Amino acid sequence: MISVDEARQRIAAAMRPVGIEPVPLDQALGRILAEDVAARVSQPPVAVSAMDGYAVRGADVQSVPTTLRRVGEAPAGGSYPGAVKAGEAVRIFTGGPLPAGADTVVLQENTEAQGDQVLVREVTALGRHVRAAGLDFQTGQVLLRSGRALRARDIGLAAAMNVPSLRVRKRPRVAVLSTGSELVSAGGAVGPTRIVDANGPALAAVLRSFGAEPVPLGIARDDIATLQEAAARARGTDLFLTLGGASVGEHDLIQKALGPQGLAVDFWKVAIRPGKPLMFGTMKSPGSDLPVLGLPGNPVSALVCALLFVRAAIDGLLGRAPEDPTITATLGRDVEANDTRQDYMRSELVRGEGGALVATPLPRQDSSMLASLAASGCLVVRAPHAPALKAGALVPIIPFGVGPEGY
Ligand code: AMP
Ligand code: MG
Repeated sequence: MISVDEARQRIAAAMRPVGIEPVPLDQALGRILAEDVAARVSQPPVAVSAMDGYAVRGADVQSVPTTLRRVGEAPAGGSYPGAVKAGEAVRIFTGGPLPAGADTVVLQENTEAQGDQVLVREVTALGRHVRAAGLDFQTGQVLLRSGRALRARDIGLAAAMNVPSLRVRKRPRVAVLSTGSELVSAGGAVGPTRIVDANGPALAAVLRSFGAEPVPLGIARDDIATLQEAAARARGTDLFLTLGGASVGEHDLIQKALGPQGLAVDFWKVAIRPGKPLMFGTMKSPGSDLPVLGLPGNPVSALVCALLFVRAAIDGLLGRAPEDPTITATLGRDVEANDTRQDYMRSELVRGEGGALVATPLPRQDSSMLASLAASGCLVVRAPHAPALKAGALVPIIPFGVGPEGY
């Protein structure tokens, strides 16, 4: 059995990054940047006013009250063609370019307009309310780095940098196969020997939230020929995800079926709960190797493993290093010492007094119980051999529902 971290690293390292494509900014949200991006302009391009008021020579407003002569206007999108001379003021608005000769903006509130005269009532420090050229960024400055998951803020910045499209990683295509003779699609005829395939739709959604494109292969019965036929349909994708049958019971046929198709197994057991039977390998074929990740069938195991191992695979395919998804929270109740497997406990997550996050593991952790996964706010992570802890101790958690992802 190998550790969760080692499994994640081995999975990510085995992935070959997918290709790159350009996308316009309105398609870039959530995509992974595949280039460093430099500003094509300086922002602001010239010195501008930060306020509505009057552009003046600072030396003219160091003793007040004083009266200046209004000689013109510089709104945003316009400019005053001349130079401001001693004793003169140009009416200016936020974003308006500072006229030559002026170095300071007097706030409108500190003045009184009297015909073409402006009475200045307050001293304004030299250079106040002026944004220097390039204050935000300068031409050529690299502000977005390859590997970044693009957020709304980044898209705004790219637009400000005058960059209308970005080169991003293609969406990895991932074949998803549910296996089990007991499974029917949601809405189908269930009964004592027939249950609904929850994992197929769940994994397709997980993949989309990770920036991949699911290629659904449907449900395969526990039958070697059926599994082999499905595996043939996975060829040409970037990753083959099988759900269920990953262990070595009589009806766990993934390894048996794919072995003759060139599957070289890297590992098939990870020290994790839920989810011990987790298989990773590569189907060798001339020209194109296909990585295969076999998740356990219990729905909570499948989804917890998705968060860790499918995530690592997708990160690898997107050319990124896997990130540590954990943050710290306070335990809401006592927990027992852990055994040899890294434990991911479904937990309630609330804000305690003072706003700190408090995570309380749910009393039942059966890996078939999907309703409690949907209702929980995080997973509390318990390292192998972690000691018993009292309520109030700090623990690592994986929070759900923060950030733009849809897990
Ligand atoms: P397995 O990993 O195939 O041994 O499956 C473990 C348990 O998960 C069994 O009770 C299966 O019926 C159940 N199971 C397997 N695949 C799915 C699925 N796609 N959706 C819901 N339950 C499943
Ligand atoms: Mg099964």
